[in-house]
Amino acid sequence: MSHSINHSMSQSMGKSKNQSASHSLTVLKFGGTSVQDALAMQDLVRIVATRKGERLVLVSAMAKVTDQLVELGKSCASGDEKAVQAVVNQLWERHQSVARDLALTPGQQEPLRRLFDQLRALSNSLAILGEVSARSLDDLLSFGELASSRLVCGAFEQAGIPAVWADSRQLIRTDSRFGSAQVHWEETGEQARRVLQPLVARSIVVAQGFIAADGDGVTTTLGRGGSDYSAAILGAVLSAGQIEIWTDVNGILSTDPRRVPEAKTLRRIHYAEAAEMAYFGAKVLHPATIFPALQKRIPVWVLNAKNPADPGTEIVYDTSSVDLCGVAFKTGVTVINIHSTRMLGAHGFLKSVFDVFALHELSVDLIATSEVNISLTLDRQVPANLVDRAIVDLRKISEVDVASGCATVSVIGRKIRETPGLAARLFGEIKDINVRMISMGASELNISFVIEEEHLNSVLRRLHRSLIETGQSG
Ligand code: ADP
Ligand code: ASP
Ligand code: MG
Repeated sequence: MSHSINHSMSQSMGKSKNQSASHSLTVLKFGGTSVQDALAMQDLVRIVATRKGERLVLVSAMAKVTDQLVELGKSCASGDEKAVQAVVNQLWERHQSVARDLALTPGQQEPLRRLFDQLRALSNSLAILGEVSARSLDDLLSFGELASSRLVCGAFEQAGIPAVWADSRQLIRTDSRFGSAQVHWEETGEQARRVLQPLVARSIVVAQGFIAADGDGVTTTLGRGGSDYSAAILGAVLSAGQIEIWTDVNGILSTDPRRVPEAKTLRRIHYAEAAEMAYFGAKVLHPATIFPALQKRIPVWVLNAKNPADPGTEIVYDTSSVDLCGVAFKTGVTVINIHSTRMLGAHGFLKSVFDVFALHELSVDLIATSEVNISLTLDRQVPANLVDRAIVDLRKISEVDVASGCATVSVIGRKIRETPGLAARLFGEIKDINVRMISMGASELNISFVIEEEHLNSVLRRLHRSLIETGQSG
């Protein structure tokens, strides 16, 4: 997040006139697996019912639905009408069967039916055009959250708990950067308070994560995995008492349990460490989530909807948390090595390199430089065609080689700076593996390095065993 955004956010949060604090409000966000079927939705209803005070529930699309909608977009773009119909029918069947399992009345199912009529009309016309803009894709993707939230609202009603449905496009205002829209904080604060405060005072409110709208009311999205961010945005502008991120694991763990089964829950973790874990790839939390909560010092909990008795992770501002908290990673990373003897003793070369990245709107993750080399990494989210175009431009000023299929591994925690010999121990554990690049010191909280993706599981297991499991984490 850039400083200017941080600045405008804190300003608008700080100066708002009619901002009444609603410390009794709990924002609860449920991810895709936590709404994957009728049983999961009924669990959600039980969890929300255990909470007291005002409650705003934000839901993701049902598990895998956003991926299917992305595929639907591709079929529309290639004009494959058969494939388009097949996907829409499949999605309709799945949502219908959940509606049946929840025993929703025809009246309760009506909004869902209308939604799918719109989805059918939209995807048919896009398939005829054979073109899907970023704007149309956001429109398509929004159907996942719009549909799941209708079902969840029905699940509350069926359980005899009054709930009202709200449209997040009338709550969160963004710019028109489709696919990863930036929040307009002031308007969001005003709209969200105006629309939501009377509603949450009366009953539970169910709205969508991930989706928002620009100044013209056109649907935008906050980027993949962005529902966590929605919870933080609305929690912050409404001055919520707490934000709960309900997912499918027992909180933030020391690493991804899918790759290292010994990963353990971090019970209390500092905002800065949670943010660092998220920035460097821990998928459990969208990287933008922490900052709005930090601005307002709102406690954030990460909890397991499949195991609500587990206390999960509490993210707090003041804590003597563990010193070495975890190992995060990113896959699908591209490393670009730029070599030029023109760099030697010259000024302005770095600028010309970064001008190329700025021109193609590419955001660089890690950087290491020497007298005549610059190595940097790009995230998997970066579109390949943009990378190709940037490389053409870089080759005009330097020699360039590119390696795809890499992974960054980041060891995160406050102990990193203070522990003599930590880097030696870390790299000693993986001395048989080729490390392409190392970045340390830019942040006090991490050491990051790049390896080939095929070694990732082995590296994660070894580092976890030697740095985390042995109690070196303090
Ligand atoms: P949701 O749909 O609830 O948003 P996500 O799939 O986005 O869930 O995130 C949860 C997943 O993140 C977990 O199932 C886990 O595999 C993965 N993950 C990666 N790193 C971590 C970590 N450090 N702690 C917990 N989960 C992690
Ligand atoms: N449904 C969206 C996605 O899959 C947002 C989210 O789940 O957080 O990216
Ligand atoms: Mg997620």
